[in-house]
Amino acid sequence: MHTPASYSRREFLGRSLSCVCHLALMALPFNPSVRRLWSSRARGQVVAEEPFARLEEIGEGLFALISTPLGGDYTTVSNGGIIAGSDGVLAVEGFMSPDGALWLAEKTRELTGRWPTHAVITHYHSDHSRGVDGYLTEADGPDVRATAVTSELVLTRRREPADDKTQRVWADVTLLDENEASLIDLGGRTVRVVPRKGHTPSDVTIELAEESIVWCGDLVWNGMFPNYVDAIPSQLSEAVRAIGRGAWSAYVPGHGPLADAAELEKYVAVLDDIEAAARRAFERGASAEDAGAAYEIPAELGEWTLFNPQYFERAIGAWMRELRASG
Ligand SMILES: [Zn+2]
Repeated sequence: MHTPASYSRREFLGRSLSCVCHLALMALPFNPSVRRLWSSRARGQVVAEEPFARLEEIGEGLFALISTPLGGDYTTVSNGGIIAGSDGVLAVEGFMSPDGALWLAEKTRELTGRWPTHAVITHYHSDHSRGVDGYLTEADGPDVRATAVTSELVLTRRREPADDKTQRVWADVTLLDENEASLIDLGGRTVRVVPRKGHTPSDVTIELAEESIVWCGDLVWNGMFPNYVDAIPSQLSEAVRAIGRGAWSAYVPGHGPLADAAELEKYVAVLDDIEAAARRAFERGASAEDAGAAYEIPAELGEWTLFNPQYFERAIGAWMRELRASG
């Protein structure tokens, strides 16, 4: 095992970008047929819907928040969800804006009778963490959990000093173990939070063994090509395979509609295909820019949208950094 030498912590901190913070700068909307495809692929029963997201019921007391930002509304941007037990309710992710978290908290109260008692943030990117103070009320707020690395990156990546509410949330964060799984007992339902890495230096998945459902954070994307901005590609590939070995009946990806095992398999094939393209380009000495511009996802792997046209170049560039460091 090697650690990519080119991927220093300082370099990482210097490039502290959101998965999608450039979204607002992009020419939107996307091709309507792609948007329709993505937005209409609900698997669970839709219990709430806004232009920016829908909530799908995927089990008793279980809801997946599927964001639909391609129309240009970035209230939530990332996916998330609600996991209810008899003693507590866990909100998954903190979303792009406080309004996004507030929307999920209000829906949580409507659907489960209580405000979130816990929240887990899967990784530091803005579209998963920036809105977490939307969960805070005047008097109270959930027990927010994240790893130490995630917590540090949330605070250091901001150019402006964190405001009072943000500081209040992140000063009080309960740190998740970075080496082994943490259990959260919600009453009659225990959630396993598993530390992983690959999309960023610190990612977690949120797993419900009995119900066979996993919230993957941004380790898994469905119908959207992933952002490699902070990725360590070999670790990403490994982490996705490890998640797949769980043989879950539903995968809640970080972006895109709910996935089943067949869709996860296609995602793995997409990751493998871009790896192969990067290795070929590396061997013939091509630039990531040229290889990215020439790259296309094989048609048999289905239709994949890009948040940003440079995502192929970024993925190939990330692989090349790793290949150079290990060469
Ligand atoms: Zn991300």
